[in-house]
Amino acid sequence: MPEKGTCPRCGGKGISLGMPIIKVGKTRGLRVEVFVCKDCDLVFYEKYEE
Ligand SMILES: [Zn+2]
Repeated sequence: MPEKGTCPRCGGKGISLGMPIIKVGKTRGLRVEVFVCKDCDLVFYEKYEE
C-alpha cells in the first residue's frame, strides 16, 4: 500500500489541494482528496477515508 498522496506516475509526493465531493452517478457523492505532484505536476485524487 503506497503512502497517502503518492503520485501514481512518478512516485513523488503530492501536495493536498483540498477535499471536494465529486458526483458519482446522479445522486451520490464521494469525498476525495485532490493532490498535485510536486515533482511532475500531475493532478490526481484519492478516495478520502476518515
Ligand atoms: Zn509525479
